[in-house]
Parts: sequence; C-alpha cells; structure tokens
Amino acid sequence: MLSDVRIKNTLSNELESFEPLSGGKSVTMYSCGPTVYSFAHIGNFRSFLFADVLRRTLELEGFTVRQVMNITDVGHMTEDHLADAEGEDKLAKIARELGTDPFAVAAHFERIFVEDAQTLGLRIYDEADADVPELHPQATRYIPEMLAMVQRLIENGYAYCDSGGQVYFEISRFAQYGELSGKNIDELEEGARVEVRSEKRDPRDFALWKVDSKHLMQWDPHSVKGWPHPSDFERLQKLAPNGIDARIGIGFPGWHIECSAMSAASLGEPIDIHTGGEDNIFPHHECELAQSFGASGATVPAPANASDAGTERTSFARFWVHGRHLLVDGRKMSKRDGTFFTVRDILDPMAQERPQLAAKLEALGFAGGKVPAAVLRYSLICNQYGQQMNFTLDGLAAARTNLERLQSLADRLRELAAPGDEGRLVGLREHIDGFRAGLRDNLNMPRALAELFAFVGGVNQLELTPGEAHAALEHLFAVDSVLGVLAHETRSHHLSETAMRELEGGDIDTLLARKPPSFDDGEISSLLSHRARARREKDWALADVIRDLLSEVGVSTEDTSDGVRWKR
Ligand SMILES: [Zn+2]
Repeated sequence: MLSDVRIKNTLSNELESFEPLSGGKSVTMYSCGPTVYSFAHIGNFRSFLFADVLRRTLELEGFTVRQVMNITDVGHMTEDHLADAEGEDKLAKIARELGTDPFAVAAHFERIFVEDAQTLGLRIYDEADADVPELHPQATRYIPEMLAMVQRLIENGYAYCDSGGQVYFEISRFAQYGELSGKNIDELEEGARVEVRSEKRDPRDFALWKVDSKHLMQWDPHSVKGWPHPSDFERLQKLAPNGIDARIGIGFPGWHIECSAMSAASLGEPIDIHTGGEDNIFPHHECELAQSFGASGATVPAPANASDAGTERTSFARFWVHGRHLLVDGRKMSKRDGTFFTVRDILDPMAQERPQLAAKLEALGFAGGKVPAAVLRYSLICNQYGQQMNFTLDGLAAARTNLERLQSLADRLRELAAPGDEGRLVGLREHIDGFRAGLRDNLNMPRALAELFAFVGGVNQLELTPGEAHAALEHLFAVDSVLGVLAHETRSHHLSETAMRELEGGDIDTLLARKPPSFDDGEISSLLSHRARARREKDWALADVIRDLLSEVGVSTEDTSDGVRWKR
C-alpha cells in the first residue's frame, strides 16, 4: 500500500514515497546497533533515536514494524574508516587494557546500553520487545550464519580465501560497489592502505573472515572445539550442508558481514528499511550491500514515485536512511574540550564524577545538575535527523521549557477530562494533522513541533469542558506515541523485601540531612529500605523521621505482602 510517508533514500539520494514490500501494513527494519566496548555517547543515541522516531512515525501511520537492532560484540576494528579495517578489535583492546575477557566486557556494556536505551525510551527495548533475543542479535551468537554466508560468497564467486585462511570480498566482481555512498570506485584505490597481506587481489577488497592467532575470540569453522556454545556449531552444519571450505582458518568475522548475516537471519531478505549514522554509509553499509547481493542476489523494486520506478534495484534494503552527526558547541565531541558526553554524564553528572558539568547544569536550573531523561530524549529528537545537530547545554534548558509546557497541559487535561463532546477541539485538530504531516515529510520534526505548539497555544486559550479536555488529551497522547516524552500517569513502583535488604546498608545520613529534601527514585528506594530496617529493629524514631520526610516530598506508600509499593 502506498503511503504518503516520504523518506530520503540514501540509495537514490531522493525523497521517496514509502511503501512496504509486503504490500500491506507490515514493515521490516534493521538498525545498526552499538559496538558494546564502552558507554554509548549522545551522538550514538541521536542515531538510535532517529530510527526510533521513524519506527514510531510508521506505527502512528498504521504500520506494524518489526525492528531489529544488533549488538556488535566482536570484529569491529579500531580503524573502521577503512573498508578492510585494520587496527585492533575494539572489544579485545578494552579487554586487554582491563585485564579481563572480551565476553565479560561485552556483557557489561550491553547491559549498560540496554539500560540507557530503556531510559531514553527506545521502543525496541519496550517491555514487549526487550526480551526477544532475535530482535537484539549478538554478533557472537550468529557466527554460523556469517560463516554460511561467507561460504555462499565463495561458491558464488564473490569471495576468495588466501593461504592463511582469511576470506576476502572481491570488489571487482560487484560493479555497483560505491553506488550507495556515491564514491568513485577508482578513487577508493588511493584510499586503500598499502597491503600488509600481499595476497589480496585488489587493495580495495575487504575481509569477510579474519585470521589472527592473537585475537581473543576465535571460532573454528571445522570443529566444535572452542565454541562457547556448541549448539551454534551444530547450527552451522545445518546451514552449510555442503560443508565449509577447508581452506578457511580458525578466526573471527569482519564487522560488515555481521550485519548482512544478522539482518537476513532476523528479518529475511529483502527488507524495507536499513538505518544507521552517516558514518555507516561508507564503508559499513556499502560492504553490507555488496555482500548480501553476492550471497543471495536479493533486489528491491524502486519505489513508485522514484525516477527509476518500475525497475529493480541492486540492494537487499529498499530504503537506506542515515542520520547526520551531532556536534557539541559547534564542534566534534572531544574529551579534551570537556564536550564528550555519554547519556549518563548528562542524566547525572555527579555520579559520573563530572562536577563542572553538574555545576553548569545546576546554573541552568537542573536540580542537582541532573537532567530528566525525557528532556535529553526531546533535545536529541527535536531537530531534523538529516541535518547536523548542534547540542548545547542551553539547548537542554530550552528542551526542558518546551517539555514542561507539554507536561503541564497534559496534567491539567487529565484532571479535567471525561468522555463527552469534543466541542471546539474540532477546530484545533488541523494542528495535530499538521504534526503528522510534518513527520510524514521525511521526519520534519521542527515543522511537526511548530504545529504541536500551535495546538498547545490554542488549547490553553480555551476554558475547556470535560469532553474537550478528553479530546485534547487523546491528541496529545497520539503525538506522544512518537515523541515518547510525557508522563502519562503517576507511575507506582514496587520494592520487594529482598531488594530492600540489599539496599539497607547504604548511607542514610546524607539523605536525611539534605535541605530542602528532594530525592530521585533510587534514593526513595534507599529511604524505604532504611525505614523497613528501622521498623524491624524497633527504632521508631528513625522510622518516623523517614515517614515524615517522604510525605514532605509527596511520596505515598502502601505495604504489600512482599515489600512496599510507592508513588509520587
Ligand atoms: Zn551494521
């Protein structure tokens, strides 16, 4: 079904009408995910968030989106601007520096990434989707799919093996190499590094399977020995019924083949949309496209309004969509300039030992220097994804002001609303239509938000009836299904006995001494744990002090059979 959602397709460099390959309402979408060797920074999250906004926009327009975002935990080399990346595996490097093993590093930073993604409201980590492993494939668990794809590439004549057991993609076999990024294939020759391994047929060929005896993560394509999960090796035998080329050595996958294999395994081929940051276009996505075509020959029909409509395009993804980079204070993020921010730095700088940042944020009115997650989300999505974004702390303050306007309207409407006639809200609906039209226009968020605030202004001028308030609230919730920044209801939290026992050893005096009292969710949990201990130990004075403090900050509690439920 042809929709009026238009998206800038990197493949054609044109704005094209979106229509799913399914011909119906279901959409497949692959988003290049994080390499879990450190904390993701706000620039990484701008990219993940634009994909989230794209997904949510399609959902608001009635599509059902199956989105997959991978976790790269092997094979991403430090010098990743080269198609045949050199340097050291990012995971192995950090593991070596920390004196631990790369699997532990990956597990640790994946957990942190998931927490950050949930904090920032990425729908792919919503309750329903969070625990579906196929939606969050880890590269180290898809080695069989990668090896099977490498094998097919050799069989199809797109790849070759050197005497050391390493496998390369042969770019001269793929005439369209360079089309996605608009790179001239001959110019690439100059950029390719003088080869250490002399057996490469062309310096621009890139590794699909790497052999390096010093690498900390290795898989033997021919034996189950050493595989962390033996069942994965059994799967490889099924995926490659004719066996794996005996020349392929013990090794690990190249970064590009990972996404080709995981996308095909999780979504099939071809897919509707592939997203990433602009730095992914070349070499990562260019190489993915070449590999997937070489392995399966998948093509996609050009969209109906494209200049080449009616023809098939050589690509396994119909739409390639890329978010542009984020700058901080007009420049590239830099640790030396103090402008490198992880999500956690912004949300709670003191906890990350960044007192200067905390002081700056406090001066802008953020209590304790802490920025609410919804404010960070809003500030990272309120621009057009296809344009460079300049992140500033003042911008965060402006985002907070806008968000407070929305939230206070939502709170007021909630108190007033009751089902009834929508009355004069009919006249304001055009702004909500305008919001949606803005998003359909290549996610033009500034245009969409201008319409939204025209709506807010209009509603604020009315003395609302309950029915009008109800209608206005429904509109706001529809808008927020994309923005994902409003608190829809007062959330209640449950704290179990076990959880409280773990927390009761923590520091209580600082919390009791805080003037004026104000606590985040973790601190409320800590106070409640101390209250439970005080009661157990019949320290009624302390229990009363904590009770009074909690009621002073507007927290209500209710004892349950296994702990306590509380809300603000
Ligand atoms: Zn990728």
